[in-house]
Order: sequence, then structure tokens, then C-alpha cells
Amino acid sequence: MSSCIFCDIAAGHTDAELVLEDERAVAFADINPQAPVHLLVIPRKHIASLAEASEEDEDLLGHLLLLGARLAREQGIQDAGFRAVFNTNAHAGQTVYHIHLHILGGRSMKWPPG
Ligand code: AMP
Ligand code: ZN
Repeated sequence: MSSCIFCDIAAGHTDAELVLEDERAVAFADINPQAPVHLLVIPRKHIASLAEASEEDEDLLGHLLLLGARLAREQGIQDAGFRAVFNTNAHAGQTVYHIHLHILGGRSMKWPPG
């Protein structure tokens, strides 16, 4: 077990409701959903936040975004619309310091976010 809950999920050491996985990434249901569809897409590589990502992560970050779009399509929220969010550091409300892409949909959302 590591000290990072999302590394543990990616390694299969902690249970999660997985919806997709490949060699570089894992997607699973958020344990405290804020919308009818609320998934998290994470890289297997531990990167603490978007602010900590570097140029070598460019392809990986693109991969996460495209997986998010694919999941939105598969979950049937693509056409109505969905939100893709990287909360980054304290003011954005980041609580888990392993980068994760939130995919939220299934209801209409407000802008700006609170
Ligand atoms: P953030 O506030 O952007 O850091 O988001 C962290 C998200 O991770 C929150 O929406 C939590 O509900 C979610 N979360 C935390 N622990 C788990 C877990 N073990 N399985 C699934 N989702 C989790
Ligand atoms: Zn981690």
C-alpha cells in the first residue's frame, strides 16, 4: 500500500468502481458523486496536481482528456453536455493530491462554479 489513495486504486490495492483502464490510466466512479454521472480519470503515474505536471506529461494529459471525452460518449452525456475539471490546489478545492480529471454530467450546471 502506498500513501496515495489513487495510486492504490490504480494498482488494484483499494476497491473502486472501475469503468475503464488501460496501460496508462484508470477511470472510476467518484465515491461522493456531485452529478448523476461523476467519474474520475487518473494516470497510473503519480503526479500530484496539474501544477506539478511537466512537459514530459504532455501526451499523458492529452490521453486523460480523450479518455474523459470517450467516457462522456459511452455514458450518454456527450450531446447534452458535460464538465471536465482538474481542481488544482487549495483555492480550487483539491483534496486528493494525485492528479484526476472529473467528468460530470447528467444534469445542467451553473457557471461560474462556486
Ligand atoms: P478533488 O476535490 O478535486 O481533489 O476531488 C477528489 C475527489 O475524489 C472527490 O470528488 C472525492 O469524492 C473523490 N474520492 C476520494 N476518495 C475516493 C475513493 N476512494 N474512491 C472514489 N472517489 C474518491
Ligand atoms: Zn498517487
